[in-house]
Amino acid sequence: MEPTPLIALQNLTKVFKGTGGEIVALKDIDLTIQRGEIFGVIGLSGAGKSTLVRCINLLEKPTSGKILIDGVDLTSLSPRELRRERQEIGMIFQSFNLLMQRTALDNICFPLELTGTPRAKAVQRAKELLEVVGLADRASAYPAQLSGGQKQRIAIAGMLAMEPRILVLDEATAMLDPKGREELLSTVYELN
Ligand code: ADP
Repeated sequence: MEPTPLIALQNLTKVFKGTGGEIVALKDIDLTIQRGEIFGVIGLSGAGKSTLVRCINLLEKPTSGKILIDGVDLTSLSPRELRRERQEIGMIFQSFNLLMQRTALDNICFPLELTGTPRAKAVQRAKELLEVVGLADRASAYPAQLSGGQKQRIAIAGMLAMEPRILVLDEATAMLDPKGREELLSTVYELN
């Protein structure tokens, strides 16, 4: 028997209704992604890539179809259950998701503090995650003092603090130079 896919999109359709009429952003998408797989979605601007990935954690509600995470249909969950499932799915966008007034270390601590982790424990975990993304020596740097690639790696570390099972990167390398892109992608490969 096939293992339960980590992500399964079934007959996913998303139609935006606006004043100018309907836009069919996704039409009957079927897609399965297995555990440990690194899956890329490529297409022209406007093809529906962002809409697709935003459906994966239901930031965008599909018009029809199913989103199964580890066999659980997100569209069938209560708001509370959905919040819990969402914590399993980390998302990084093109623009850097960092707080400018906080150091790298404190940016990583931030999600932990929000969920009630004591400060000392959050700091310890943040330090470990800085090691994981290869930026242990930049703990006290502010985002303005980091390169684009480093900022995205800090954003990834912050996301990893929540121990997600899935990482979704929506054009996370678009703002980066070739070196930053290389750094970010090799970090993702190592994490996987
Ligand atoms: P991509 O990420 O591949 O560039 P998008 O998923 O952003 O594509 O967009 C797919 C299509 O859906 C585009 O035609 C876009 O204009 C439209 N679209 C995206 N979001 C919205 C929205 N919130 N309201 C109306 N139309 C939207």
